[in-house]
Amino acid sequence: MPSKLAAGNWKMHGLTSDLNELRAIAATAKASDVPTLICPPATLIAAAATPGLHIGGQYCHTAEHGAHTGDISAQMLRDAGATHVIVGHSERRTDHNETDVDIQEQSKAAKAAGLISIICIGETLAQRESGGFLDVLATQLRNSVPDDATAADTVIAYEPVWAIGTGRVAEVAQITEVHDALRDDLSARFSDGKEFTLLYGGSVKAANAHEIFSCANVNGALVGGASLKAADFCPIIEALAAQ
Ligand code: PEP
Repeated sequence: MPSKLAAGNWKMHGLTSDLNELRAIAATAKASDVPTLICPPATLIAAAATPGLHIGGQYCHTAEHGAHTGDISAQMLRDAGATHVIVGHSERRTDHNETDVDIQEQSKAAKAAGLISIICIGETLAQRESGGFLDVLATQLRNSVPDDATAADTVIAYEPVWAIGTGRVAEVAQITEVHDALRDDLSARFSDGKEFTLLYGGSVKAANAHEIFSCANVNGALVGGASLKAADFCPIIEALAAQ
């Protein structure tokens, strides 16, 4: 069985005072027995250390160190206390022109540093409407995930770009169709493909979490806006526990 994961991506939100939220999130994670991850901005990783919670980065460079002003390496994230790192988020793919090859290299760097990668893939609205989105996703999966990935070091997050931060959530049938296809692709390529944790991301909230987690092959969520406040994120953790 893939392990569950409730993951929060704080993006470029969060000051030291916001770390107060983590105590309640950790308490719910513990009580629910759901592995829970918060990816705050890099400035907060060290201070975010909280028993019962995993802490992660939102990006890592492919190199261990070097002349890359403003960047951060996987080794640095690990040193600060991270256990995970998100790679290939659609905002990075768009804002920083990151390609599947870049993301695969970032994932390799993460593994070398002892971090679990959460590799994001997702189609744009135009790609979905053109009908070829399953091919788009299969290509992203094939090219972003390293050949030596395992279920122990890699999590896949399906995040339709049109559902991120828009309030528009994919329908259960749409999520199921994609997650089943991802599971088939992973099982064909990796001996432990059935064990990979598959997350859905895109406007997940307390109100829709139960329905999303009822989809076959959805093992958790990558949550943006609704992970910033314990009052919003804890019911999502509880909904995952109930599955
Ligand atoms: C995300 O940032 O990965 C995300 C899914 O954001 P939101 O939940 O706000 O749509």
